[in-house]
Amino acid sequence: MLSPSARVSALALLAIVVPAAIVAAIGYVSIRQWEASSELLYREQARDMATMAAEKVEMTLRRAEDAFLDRLQVVLRTEASPTRAIDELLAGAPLIRRLYLVGPGGELRYPRAWQEGDAAVFAPLVSEPARRELERSGKRLVVSGNQICLAALTSRGGEPIVAAFQRDPDILRREILETALGALESPTLIAVLDHEGRTVYSRAPIGDAQRVLAVPFRDALPDWRLAVYQTPGATPREAVRRQVMFFTGALGVLVAVIVTGIVTTWRLMRRETEMARLKSDFVANVSHDLKTPLSVIRMFGETLEMGRVTDEGRRQEYYRVITREGERLTRLIDNVLDFSRIEGGRQTYEMTPTPIEPLVRGTLETFAYPLAQQGFKVEVSVASDLPEVVMDADAVGQALANLIDNAIKYSGDERALTVDARIVSDRLVLSVTDRGLGIPAEEQGKIFEKFYRVGRSDTQGRRGSGVGLALVRHIAEAHGGDVSVESTPGVGSRFALRVPIGRA
Ligand code: ADP
Repeated sequence: MLSPSARVSALALLAIVVPAAIVAAIGYVSIRQWEASSELLYREQARDMATMAAEKVEMTLRRAEDAFLDRLQVVLRTEASPTRAIDELLAGAPLIRRLYLVGPGGELRYPRAWQEGDAAVFAPLVSEPARRELERSGKRLVVSGNQICLAALTSRGGEPIVAAFQRDPDILRREILETALGALESPTLIAVLDHEGRTVYSRAPIGDAQRVLAVPFRDALPDWRLAVYQTPGATPREAVRRQVMFFTGALGVLVAVIVTGIVTTWRLMRRETEMARLKSDFVANVSHDLKTPLSVIRMFGETLEMGRVTDEGRRQEYYRVITREGERLTRLIDNVLDFSRIEGGRQTYEMTPTPIEPLVRGTLETFAYPLAQQGFKVEVSVASDLPEVVMDADAVGQALANLIDNAIKYSGDERALTVDARIVSDRLVLSVTDRGLGIPAEEQGKIFEKFYRVGRSDTQGRRGSGVGLALVRHIAEAHGGDVSVESTPGVGSRFALRVPIGRA
């Protein structure tokens, strides 16, 4: 069965994880749709851009050729023997490579003769059927493959003249394609492919970029195409994938933060409940601890008062019991008061150089009666070379007393106690060893916490408040030292209180 707080945490977790999962699912679906539509949009945009770029190339090319043909027409109309003027015109138009003018009878008007091999290429193009084709299609025609352009002009006498010329591929690349495409704003990778699919021009090296699409040019560059590429990593699909990864990662972090928060809150709640329980145990323990010595004192006091005890030895015994129980009460009340002062941050320590041996022996002395009565074998070993150590003697004495008190309290049949004082690497080490019950390893870290008692409030049937060791640790730390325990259940424990000797 889950505890109420665990149930609340589980519900809270569910209340957050379920909506988070729904958000994640919705996010995933919409990202997928977004991916598909962005791909479509991208292709459409690429197509528009390619069409526009192709248009621009055609326009630039046509404008350059038209300008030349217009000037040629003027020369043909005005000059009786235009050869020289045409030569000059050609010199100023590097795009036009081989120009032939053919008269209505198929006779070559310019230049005087066909260049080597050209007759075979050009003559069929300017033959009668080709002329008719030219007239049908308007004034211009470009032959696919060899890119020879034909134009219908008229001579001075009004005869139809066919002009045929070839474009210079270098000039076409440099002056037409470069001018038209180089200035495009779009960062897209575009290239011009010839009728055999070879790259004639590209804005940047294509490398391993993938072709998105290719659009054909119109009549100025028949069978040529303008292709759009996209570099790997820059595709919309990859951009969306990165978004998906980011979204998933962010969601993961969010869920992790929420889960950590819930777990932490749950732990805190558990600690709070545990603290509340320990506190109520503490009150019960202290009350019980106060009551027992008080009733002993009262009982012995009343017995003595009534004068019933006639034997002097017995009377002395009763007095000792009263004194011992009084001391125990004082120690208990001191512990509780000091503890509350420490909790309230009001505890102060008075540091004075203190001789160690009298402190150790004096503290042990207060336990002489219970030690003797319970038949403890006591060993004290104080190193002979101990210097005076700066400390609050009352506080350290109280810490030592708490350790000795515990050693007595938590001893079983084997009653032996060793108190040892020595210097180990510039620190005074006061250790108390017993052969008592011992402490399980998993509890050893907790016994120094306030109110903590091994095995709950009825710790092995012994009285206690659970603040003794918390106080010892506080006193040790206030002196710049520490306290530690080595213990084996059933064998015994050794508590060591360490205080630096160099602190003035
Ligand atoms: P308490 O008032 O219960 O003695 P302490 O803070 O002094 O409180 O000690 C905490 C717990 O540590 C004790 O309840 C006991 O279970 C355990 N403990 C302390 N000293 C010893 C010891 N010498 N041997 C065995 N257990 C010990």
